[in-house]
Amino acid sequence: MFGLMQDRQLLISGVIRHAARNHAHAEIVSKNVDGSIHRYGYRDLEARARRLARVLARLGLTPEDRCGTLAWNGYRHLELYYGVSGGGLICHTINPRLAPEDIAYIVNDAGDKIVFADITFAPLLAIVAPMVTASVRAIVFLCTPAEMPSLDLPPGMDLLCYESLMDGSDEDYAWPEFDERTAASLCYTSGTTGRPKGVLYSHRSTILHAMSTMPADVFGLSARDRVMPVVPMFHVNAWGCPYAVPMAGGTLIMPGRHLDGTSLTALINQEGVTMSAGVPTIWMGLLNHLRASGERIDSVRRLGVGGSACPRVIMQAFQEEYGVTIVHAWGMSETSPVASANMMTPDSLALEGETYWRMRDKQGQALFGVEMKIVGDGGVELPWDGVAQGDLLVRGPWIASAYWGHAPGSACDDDGWFATGDVSTIDPDGRMEITDRSKDVIKSGGEWISSITLENIAVSHPDVQEAAIIAAHHPKWDERPLLLVVPRKGHDIVPEEILKIYDGKVAKWWLPDAVIVVDELPHTATGKLHKLSLRQMYRNYLVS
Ligand code: ADP
Repeated sequence: MFGLMQDRQLLISGVIRHAARNHAHAEIVSKNVDGSIHRYGYRDLEARARRLARVLARLGLTPEDRCGTLAWNGYRHLELYYGVSGGGLICHTINPRLAPEDIAYIVNDAGDKIVFADITFAPLLAIVAPMVTASVRAIVFLCTPAEMPSLDLPPGMDLLCYESLMDGSDEDYAWPEFDERTAASLCYTSGTTGRPKGVLYSHRSTILHAMSTMPADVFGLSARDRVMPVVPMFHVNAWGCPYAVPMAGGTLIMPGRHLDGTSLTALINQEGVTMSAGVPTIWMGLLNHLRASGERIDSVRRLGVGGSACPRVIMQAFQEEYGVTIVHAWGMSETSPVASANMMTPDSLALEGETYWRMRDKQGQALFGVEMKIVGDGGVELPWDGVAQGDLLVRGPWIASAYWGHAPGSACDDDGWFATGDVSTIDPDGRMEITDRSKDVIKSGGEWISSITLENIAVSHPDVQEAAIIAAHHPKWDERPLLLVVPRKGHDIVPEEILKIYDGKVAKWWLPDAVIVVDELPHTATGKLHKLSLRQMYRNYLVS
């Protein structure tokens, strides 16, 4: 027998309708490309999203068509999120930091009909446009007519102005009702392991994911919050903030392209930001700026961190020097992305010193809705003892079942488990800790060494700006860890000295076999260490 409750569909248009009706007090504050500030409320956003849905229909787009976006975090990008998905089309966010060839590959693979772009990307589009003529019919710049860049486009591709299109349209549009499992947005993995692959989110998965990030132990969102997503809207839907914050009725502060420590501090203090989310590198930049300038960020209560392991030094500094709690979360494009967060239980709050920080290092418990397990050889499930390391598998309503263009279910096993490619432990409290990506783990004499643990210890050294641990071939042990370090500005690094920082912190056999001082380390388009290229460069360092 089914329950007798209403079967209303979970649709993205429902989020913005809710915010417009119930939270008219809240604002969307955006820092524009030129540095000026734009403000409006959810009612304006909802009306403009409806106007945009009309524009899309007039341009001849129909449900399921893909609209690409190349844009920073700002109100027009938000209008695209709601206008495109709300109208039943698919909002495809593209990472502008990728190489032009990769962008062209992604646009062609997605079959984008139109690409909406911030004017800063005109030079990039000049390179990409000739490579995407098979699918793209028009480029729409997110600006006013006066700001339109000049750009020569290939025949058959129109150059259009967003505000002109919006002016020529109207809001006489009613959000359509459809099945909540309908595709809503598309985001490609960064391609660190090969060609980028598309992850296709549904309305249902987007809404369930956003709701699951709202509780106090995750992003802790309220109608009083002023949330600044620093994580870009082209990086896994800015971790769901553009949906979760309007659900809660909070204000969204969009930093645009101004993501350095100085700009972020200014915006935080001008706008009274209470919560923000971003990758560790961003918070390192902010911390360096705060320490150097003596400025404070007293309005901020918590910062969500994920995308790569958050070094303890960052968590500790924000908590102890600035009174800001770091929420360490884990996820990936295929998990929408938030799947776990380090939640403080009464027991864990009672911990002190090293034991407390060891607990805080972890990526935390599964969010309600996500199931996790770790498996060893042959897929055998491993115990949750905080010691056994295995491949991390997840399943749940906002975990991918297949990649774009592939058969449903093809990305997971028969029981729906998706292999994350991460290696982790899970402790008896359910706290998961990522120890490596499976391709980065170092297998020394058959035993695994965690590169993340070694990197975190290295960056706690006062002379070290950034560190990478990679596996290098070794004649006796197969693989041994190699440490690459970038010195802090004005600091010198003596390799043997650096190794002393590991004393008492890890087993002797975990110590890197060599330390190489470099000026910089390569990064992927999402700001992560590009270990593949480092391995290519240094994998024979210990054999030659
Ligand atoms: P890609 O897989 O292409 O790099 P994602 O942005 O989806 O793109 O990255 C997901 C990966 O990032 C995860 O599989 C994991 O290895 C890493 N990651 C994310 N959050 C954390 C975290 N808090 N700690 C350690 N690693 C993390």
